[in-house]
Amino acid sequence: MDVVTYSRNVFIPLTNACRNKCYYCGFRSSNPKIMNMEEVEVLLRKAKNASEALLTFGEKPDVHRSIRKKLEEMGYPSFMDYLLEVCKFAVSMGFLPHTNAGVLSKSELKALKPYNASMGLMLEQAVELECHAESPGKKPEVRIKTIRNAGKLQIPFTTGILVGIGEKMEDRIYSLEVIADIHENYGHIQEVIVQNFIPKKGTRMENHPPPSHQEMLETVKAARRILPKDVTVQIPPNLVDDIYPFLKAGARDIGGISDVTPDFINPEHPWPRLEKIETCLRGEFKLRERLPIYPKYVKLGWYGERVKDVLLRLSDEEGYRCKS
Ligand code: SF4
Repeated sequence: MDVVTYSRNVFIPLTNACRNKCYYCGFRSSNPKIMNMEEVEVLLRKAKNASEALLTFGEKPDVHRSIRKKLEEMGYPSFMDYLLEVCKFAVSMGFLPHTNAGVLSKSELKALKPYNASMGLMLEQAVELECHAESPGKKPEVRIKTIRNAGKLQIPFTTGILVGIGEKMEDRIYSLEVIADIHENYGHIQEVIVQNFIPKKGTRMENHPPPSHQEMLETVKAARRILPKDVTVQIPPNLVDDIYPFLKAGARDIGGISDVTPDFINPEHPWPRLEKIETCLRGEFKLRERLPIYPKYVKLGWYGERVKDVLLRLSDEEGYRCKS
């Protein structure tokens, strides 16, 4: 029976400050906040069952003066310094950080690697789109550079495409080919998320139609056809009604789910409970918990050296999450 994997995470949206202004974004704020270490600790303490500390937030948040001021009050010269401390703290609490910080330089990736099991950056689309006209970090070449640099540093990596933001089917195929090409060169892409755009109220794209079920199915099939076999296709279970047709189309992972934190990027779409996901498998697939790093990279030892003890405690002999 084919295995479908998932990871138990705690979602830590460190800040809603972001230098980009994507036309579909409902997360970014022009009056941004940043979580302090006590707030991070509260979330981590709630999430006893989770292995993954998912650090997802806006890109280059210290372009905002108010964030720089807050960081200074907290005693950190830059957001990167603070992020590193948060990663270290999460590791000390027994979690495996997976940082998704937007575009990063090679030296920033290098600094974060020791305290992360894996990292991520959505490519979204490898073509210029109107919705990214005010988002310098969404320029395809800038994102591709970050993903390539992660490969040079042997960081197990999650990327993905966002479907329905103004691109055509041929653009999706091109974007998947770009990811496939990067993986052929560096071998570090563990999974590719095929995520459907969902319009958010109050955004410039609130009336833009989301992709149809059929378009999503065709995109998942294209992903499975184009991507190398060792790259898993992921479908977010809270953004589609039923994951079964997508599993039949080739997806084999449903990403991180949490019983303590919502999907802060799509808070109106709660994570389904594991029992509901089991029902969707129709007895044809077996659900198995993984870590934020895929078994292949556990075996290769590509995780950060400072997460080694936590990782060895949480993984079984095959590199999945151990049962206890
Ligand atoms: S990069 Fe992410 S957080 Fe920033 S505006 Fe775009 S979608 Fe929003």
